[in-house]
Amino acid sequence: MTTNVTTVPAYAAPAANAPLERTTVPRRPVGEHDVLIDIKFSGICHSDIHQARDGWGEGIFPMVPGHEIAGIVAEVGPGVTKFQVGDRVGVGCFVDSCRTCEYCLQGLEQYCTGGMTGTYNALDKNGEPTYGGYARHIVVDENYTLRIPEGIALDEAAPLLCAGITLYSPLAHWQAGPGKKVAIVGLGGLGHMGVKIAHALGAEVTVLSQSLKKQEDGLKLGADHFYATSDPATFTELAGTFDLVISTVSAPLDFGAYLSLVKTDGALVNVGAPEEPVALNLFSLIGGRKTLAGSMIGGIAETQEMLDFCAAHGLGAEIEVIDADRINEAYERVLASDVRYRFVIDASTI
Ligand SMILES: [Zn+2]
Ligand SMILES: [Zn+2]
Repeated sequence: MTTNVTTVPAYAAPAANAPLERTTVPRRPVGEHDVLIDIKFSGICHSDIHQARDGWGEGIFPMVPGHEIAGIVAEVGPGVTKFQVGDRVGVGCFVDSCRTCEYCLQGLEQYCTGGMTGTYNALDKNGEPTYGGYARHIVVDENYTLRIPEGIALDEAAPLLCAGITLYSPLAHWQAGPGKKVAIVGLGGLGHMGVKIAHALGAEVTVLSQSLKKQEDGLKLGADHFYATSDPATFTELAGTFDLVISTVSAPLDFGAYLSLVKTDGALVNVGAPEEPVALNLFSLIGGRKTLAGSMIGGIAETQEMLDFCAAHGLGAEIEVIDADRINEAYERVLASDVRYRFVIDASTI
């Protein structure tokens, strides 16, 4: 551990599957190109729960989750040029990358061949564990810090740093816009941002949800149509309809059935991550030159573009702000799909 480390209040899972509790964690000193961020709000992402419960294995404990961070710059290193004390800023899913591979050079840091450094549950370049946003402060390199425009409240901005960019990136890459028919599968934390962003991009938006329970919400968020996937007639009626289908669900899907909804030359893009391998009859791709693809968050420049786009269109996440002592309860409610649509922790209560 380096010297001059400060400790900050945080909520951590002390071990896999243990409830999160209040503690303190070290933060590195503010370096040449670092900003110290006074965290105001931190979103709860489904993958926080997954990692705190060690769903992917090899978790680093104690673990401070949180990669949807919004706050205010409290201090800057002497070499910092992009930010000043008082600026509204955000931090997403990663805080560093190799900066030299072909993807980093293209602004696709999320696909860094050396591996980007996760905001938490990772080791930084000095081999120290990274701790995420369920904390009062964080120190981040200015090159991995985003600017949050005045047009978005900080609490509604926090979830954009993961949920927002996770949907914005594939919508932009597959050119959702006027004249395009887009379907969003699943109306949760990710899906609700997909609906808002696709609508703002000018696409005709359809929600494909298990039931019609959230229909009113979906239409209010900007969807033009809403269908229940539990009704087999949905798949008959919508066959060959969409230019782009984005699945946000992490339960295994019948990919063949969803590909049947895609037009010739269209794409089914997965941003949810089912744990089990999937079986697929490749005729569902061949008959229509279709693409089955995946997409993971976005690079730094694209994340900034997304924040600017959301501010220009008045888009933030639909949130429920909670005090930190309700994190464990919030986890249970996320697992039960009982949140509309993102929990955000008020960091002043940490
Ligand atoms: Zn996330
Ligand atoms: Zn790289």
